[in-house]
Amino acid sequence: MLAINGGKPIRYGGWHTWPPRNEKTITQVTKVLQSGRWAISGPYVNSPLFEEEFAKQYAEFNGVRYCVPTANGSSALVIALEALGIGIGDEVIVPVLTWVATASTVLRVNATPVFVDIDPNTLCMSVDAARSVITERTKAIIPVHLHHSMADMNAFIALSEETGIPLIEDAAQAHGAIWRGQRAGSMGRLGTFSFQQSKVLTSGEGGAVITNDPELYERLQQLRADSRRWVSEPRKLNGMQLIASGKVMGANYCLSEIQAAMLLAQLPYLEEQLKNCAENAEYLDQKLASLECLYPLKQPSCLERRTVYEYIIGIDREAFGNHPIERICEALKAELGLCFYPPDTPLHQSLLYQPLTKKRFSNTSEKAKILDVSGLSFPIAEEAAQNSIVCHHAAFLGSKSDMDDIVVAFEKILTNVNEL
Ligand SMILES: *Cc1c(COP(=O)(O)O)cnc(C)c1O
Repeated sequence: MLAINGGKPIRYGGWHTWPPRNEKTITQVTKVLQSGRWAISGPYVNSPLFEEEFAKQYAEFNGVRYCVPTANGSSALVIALEALGIGIGDEVIVPVLTWVATASTVLRVNATPVFVDIDPNTLCMSVDAARSVITERTKAIIPVHLHHSMADMNAFIALSEETGIPLIEDAAQAHGAIWRGQRAGSMGRLGTFSFQQSKVLTSGEGGAVITNDPELYERLQQLRADSRRWVSEPRKLNGMQLIASGKVMGANYCLSEIQAAMLLAQLPYLEEQLKNCAENAEYLDQKLASLECLYPLKQPSCLERRTVYEYIIGIDREAFGNHPIERICEALKAELGLCFYPPDTPLHQSLLYQPLTKKRFSNTSEKAKILDVSGLSFPIAEEAAQNSIVCHHAAFLGSKSDMDDIVVAFEKILTNVNEL
């Protein structure tokens, strides 16, 4: 009998949990608390900033020259857009299947998000769909690296070179993924990350922008610290490290020292963690593919190492008795003590994306009409959202025997589908 109907479950939880807890994080955070400096806008205290050290190490990790940490992944997107000078009247192309922030941040700089459908292989933005909506108002394209795949960066880079439209890679879910030897986020003009609690590197809340462009780096500093940039002079006790420049109007999107310390404590373990998760995902792909009614994501050949943020798998709903995804997820959860859930709703149908409820986004009926996306249709994203199941990367932090349990749970549900 299925566990959802009172049968014996395959296991009672016992999965790795997220966020990670380690001693080093506690020691580092304590150091900050005792230092007398909790913010980069506070006076200098004769010890290096955790924020600057993290920026340096995270830039190195990604193989780029510069990194500007931010309060969250959304503010990273806002300042990336602003650094490119994007604003009123501009259009930015975003995939319709993504977290709401990819699109809501475009609204926040007074530009218009233009949604496009996804590529059924990667579930990331389709480059052909992006090409088809380019106008003279298009000022950026934001490929998002979702779940455990990546947008086809070869094709997006070619499109960007051909049209001169810059790419902002939203790598909020893809820290450390490797595409033809390069890290996710390092191939566009700018790349953005989130360190929100669920992400693969986290400080509860947090974010970062990376770039190789020194001018963009100067602008990003000021955009995130109320128009202030780093001073170049030697640092003096109780002096300020940020000074006004009068060149770029910013806002406060700074990461706190406590958050930077948490990130610094965890960064040394990230590579090993990502590798382990990718190996487990690869193993699970192979096992689940043999069940024939489950369709693991095809991995593009250029994706040398995926980052598993949310493991997504396509399912043949008929084989599961055409039950709603939620019911299948509940049955899996009952067998394993592990959460499964449906993917995000495509933004044109999502409760999270409601631009007309905020006056700052439209002051004319003409603008309101442009922002009303409720009548649009994106068949590939809609189909993927209705026929996929998602599981958080925490489940992949362990061993192959954890993966075997997931396979057994799917098999058990499929052989007892009449019970669902
Ligand atoms: C999490 C996420 C964001 C936003 O990050 P926050 O830190 O929550 O602001 C943006 N884009 C994608 C694809 C995300 O998954």
